[in-house]
Amino acid sequence: MSGIKDGSHYTLKAMCCGKELEDTGVLLSCPDCSEPHFLRASYSSHLVAGNSDEGIYRFSDWLPVRRVLKGSGAPVTYRSRALAAKLGMSNLWITFNGWWPEKGALMRTGSFKECEAYSVCARIPEAPDSGTLVVASAGNTARAFIRVCSENSIPLAVVVPEDNLNALWSEEEPAGCVKIIASASGSDYFDAIALSNKLCSGSGFYPEGGAKNPARRDGMGTTVLSAAVAMGEIPEYYFQAVGSGTGAIAAWEASVRLEKDGSFGPNNMKLMVSQNSPFQIIHDSWKADSRDLLPLGDDEAREMAHKIDAKVLSNRKPPYSLPGGLFDALKASGGDVLLADNAEAREAGRLFLETEGVDISPEASVALASLIMALDDKAVPRDGKVMLNITGGGTELYRASHKTKACRADLVFSNDAAPEDVVRETAALWS
Ligand SMILES: [Zn+2]
Repeated sequence: MSGIKDGSHYTLKAMCCGKELEDTGVLLSCPDCSEPHFLRASYSSHLVAGNSDEGIYRFSDWLPVRRVLKGSGAPVTYRSRALAAKLGMSNLWITFNGWWPEKGALMRTGSFKECEAYSVCARIPEAPDSGTLVVASAGNTARAFIRVCSENSIPLAVVVPEDNLNALWSEEEPAGCVKIIASASGSDYFDAIALSNKLCSGSGFYPEGGAKNPARRDGMGTTVLSAAVAMGEIPEYYFQAVGSGTGAIAAWEASVRLEKDGSFGPNNMKLMVSQNSPFQIIHDSWKADSRDLLPLGDDEAREMAHKIDAKVLSNRKPPYSLPGGLFDALKASGGDVLLADNAEAREAGRLFLETEGVDISPEASVALASLIMALDDKAVPRDGKVMLNITGGGTELYRASHKTKACRADLVFSNDAAPEDVVRETAALWS
């Protein structure tokens, strides 16, 4: 049984030097090594999934958490009939993240970023003096963290580009412990990251850490755990659209863990990840067989980010090159990187709505479009055991039946704001 966890069911292993580390709940790297690396959680028990009413914590055997938070939903995996029939597939499994109560999918923010938010926040020790968590985001992640931290009284500073504030909709006002900081209009996600780094230079603020946070990766890995539990085995093909690729790295780590567990058979899971062209830095680097990301100018990146529907996939500096990053995960799994443009993705989104009956996000539509192309190209057999990770969906369904409004920024900083001003003015928001 998953049951209540106190954090004693796991240790962290440093992938740099192999050292076992005791977790503090916010540790992101090995104290002895300076080259880029991951910490990976090592769990003491087999995976036994709990009941669906436990939300994401039904997988807490394999989450680095020390408490259970209120209000979480878990990924839901089911075998597709209508879409599978339309595509001539006999073994298509859909892992749905979002709002679709009829299927038991209860992520109100409509995105699998809730998986990481409920995992990351449940890893942080419950203490009034642990400081304020800082999360930089383009939209989905911010929405998920605002919700989790509001409902569970966790101090949070979320940092977003001012131009993306409309992506931060919610039903209720954020709680008083949650503050929204914006990088001024005209700035982008990377400016927001730079601003969050300034904030973390002050005492009392600590960074969430992105892909480096093992709780983020294992939270996202619950999509594959959900699929393996539903299918009784590890899927052969894993389809997901990627921006940073953290979800795909997490999926790969989960598949390796499942094989070691022994109850789910061999791991032959190929990562089939996709990007929304023309924003395709991961695709181009992979096709050039380059561990280093190909160069991409800031202005060129901003221009391409404007062109794509799936804005959350426009990450310029994904964790691709480092050991255990996306390049290694793709190599180890024998995977590939595919592309879909806006028109192909929109068509796929319409097909999903028509066959399965719910709206899906632009990035999930990219993943489905890439699956359709892989079938046509015979890169994936129509009887292959395929997991399609629908990373977001049901937001239209949710917003049609709930009153939502956009959040406002508590503070806006220009790109040249001095770090000490950012820290002082932001800290004053809680006093
Ligand atoms: Zn080390």
